[in-house]
Amino acid sequence: MLTGSYSSSLVLISLCVAILASYTALDLTGRIATAKGRAAYLWMGGGALAMGIGVWSMHFIGMLAFSLPIDLGYDLALTAFSLLIAVLSSGFALWLVSQPSLPGLQLAFGALIMGAGIACMHYTGMAALRMLPGIDYDPTLFGASLLIAVGASAAALWIAFRLRAHTPYVRQIRGLAAVVMGFAIVGMHYTGMAAANFPDGSFCGALGSGLQGDGLVYLVLITTLAVLAVALLTSVLDARLEARTAELARSLTLANQELTQLALHDTLTDLPNRTLLADRIEQAIAKVAEQGGCFALMFIDLDGFKPVNDAFGHHIGDLLLKAVAARLRGHLHSQDTLARIGGDEFVLLVELQEPDDAMDVAVKQVNLVSRPFRVAEHDLQLSASLGIVLYPGNGQDQHELLRNADAAMYHAKSAGKNGYSFFDVSMNSNARQQLQLLQDLRQALEQRQFRLHYQPKFDAQACQPIGAEALLRWEHPQQGLLLPDRFIGLAEKTGLIIPIGEWVLDEACRQMRQWLDQGHHGWRMAVNLSAIQFCHTGLVESVARALRQNGLPANCLTLEITETTAMHDADASLTVLQRLSDMGVDLSIDDFGTGYSSLMYLKRLPANELKIDRGFVRDLEQDSDDAAIVSAIVALGQALGLRIVAEGVETDKQQDFLTRLGCDSLQGYLLGQPVPAEQFMGKLQAMGQANTAVG
Ligand code: C2E
Ligand code: CA
Ligand code: CA
Repeated sequence: MLTGSYSSSLVLISLCVAILASYTALDLTGRIATAKGRAAYLWMGGGALAMGIGVWSMHFIGMLAFSLPIDLGYDLALTAFSLLIAVLSSGFALWLVSQPSLPGLQLAFGALIMGAGIACMHYTGMAALRMLPGIDYDPTLFGASLLIAVGASAAALWIAFRLRAHTPYVRQIRGLAAVVMGFAIVGMHYTGMAAANFPDGSFCGALGSGLQGDGLVYLVLITTLAVLAVALLTSVLDARLEARTAELARSLTLANQELTQLALHDTLTDLPNRTLLADRIEQAIAKVAEQGGCFALMFIDLDGFKPVNDAFGHHIGDLLLKAVAARLRGHLHSQDTLARIGGDEFVLLVELQEPDDAMDVAVKQVNLVSRPFRVAEHDLQLSASLGIVLYPGNGQDQHELLRNADAAMYHAKSAGKNGYSFFDVSMNSNARQQLQLLQDLRQALEQRQFRLHYQPKFDAQACQPIGAEALLRWEHPQQGLLLPDRFIGLAEKTGLIIPIGEWVLDEACRQMRQWLDQGHHGWRMAVNLSAIQFCHTGLVESVARALRQNGLPANCLTLEITETTAMHDADASLTVLQRLSDMGVDLSIDDFGTGYSSLMYLKRLPANELKIDRGFVRDLEQDSDDAAIVSAIVALGQALGLRIVAEGVETDKQQDFLTRLGCDSLQGYLLGQPVPAEQFMGKLQAMGQANTAVG
């Protein structure tokens, strides 16, 4: 029996190669797992090559570490065949661990094949010695080497499968696993070597024709190291690249999400916008078609938002809208959609159990808005008008539903605001009527359908007339006499208010000139200006022209602008008012108390008169708050040197009360209704006689 010996340094090197090959293999499985398409196959092919060469070279260096008292050589073909076996079984192993799952049975089967492959490679490599007579294998050790091969393969496969994912410390764990696997491979090899007995007088048949010599170790070693190094380096670089790509992809996804958020949401309130709302309505309609049930769409419009925005500026207005959005949103179910679709317009989409539930939701929303909002130190009061449509029932598609909800909202608004209306088909015909009215309005001026009615104003103490307010009427050919509430809004929206306003100014001045000629010196004619007229650049010129053409002194004309109009863009208003005041025209702040005036600003305003809103006068007797407000306004006016006018006086009590509080003049149905000029003097005389009769 020939006794072999080992070169310890080469054994150590073979162990290192085994560990390095294991590490490379584990690293590559990570690549294969994350690569896609062709790249995965390329990695698998390259990996099989690198790992096969690594395992094989470990084995071959182990063979070279072994020496017998006789010279040894290696048959080239068999050696190459053993390399091929190593590469193929490595490829199989890599393919196996790159599968999405690795159940126990599959693992066992894989380990069997891979173990057999390694053993095959080993014993083919041994056969490459072409010993004569043949090598005598110890059956126990031979069996043990097979078991080790299969066991090590099972462990390697399991570890490799587990380590595919990117977990923290993956490199360290991989290193440790590589050491374990390296030892297992080396253990198998040397157990197999220990099983081999070489009978005395054995002769190496490969000597002479096969591979041979000391340089062989270095050649194999260097080639192997080069292959493994290239494989590892490529793998590491690719991992970096992949990480970078993943990072880029992540930021792209993030940017995409942000864009979608921007495209589908309102930037101020973060609520869904019109686009997203449309989508949600479509979904809700589809859901009803599929599963039944119903939903309600509520069009919510804030009452009183514009005055706040005008008086406090856009910044406060924006904060208020945010607060409203947050409060409404806070009381909804997550499946409901609250969208903002315009300045102060919101739409709420709610799924309902029963159509009747819509009312509860609407009442809740209206109540939520009517509680005061505290915004930047201001207590602000709003209310909401709500229009409700139900689906199925009030429309076929989202456009019709929204249009009908809008019509219902307008109905709620005209019914006194701070409330809700369910849609009804008659409301749609209202919209059509509006359209017709607009067409008629365009011709009204040309066809001389406008009239002025005059309502007298009285000195509070002396109860003597001191002038009149001109109030516009429209003699509609079909509908009869229309009040301004019916058409002023429409005229403002279309800009028709400018020519109409000029006609009013001219006509009122003409009438006043006539009264002046009749001897009513000291009277003043009051004309209302809308916000649109007030902002129009030609206003000062129109006023001057009306006065000039009718030969009327400027101080016979009072212009009434509402508090809200005057406070809107305070500086611009100030310039216009100053120019009018310089002309000698008298200025009155109408509907005083309904807006949000700043005292500072009021002081700078060149106004002559404050007109207490008739809302306060109406409830004077019942509401002690209103009485307090009226006396505060009177005190304020007196402090600022302004005349105080109370409008809407309907009862003797109101007249008494307002006179005692110190109002300078009074106006109202009690003292005189608005009438055409022809009836004006007659009515006044009748009033005067009645007064003298009483007095
Ligand atoms: P306003 O300037 O506050 O006019 C007073 C309104 O109160 C008038 O309604 C008048 O008829 C009504 N009124 C007078 N006395 C009483 C009373 O004792 N009780 C009650 N409940 N109401 C009383 P009217 O004529 O319907 O005008 C409504 C609004 O239309 C006016 O409010 C004014 O803002 C606007 N307006 C009227 N004429 C014109 C105009 O020529 N140009 C512009 N731009 N607006 C006008
Ligand atoms: Ca007025
Ligand atoms: Ca008024």
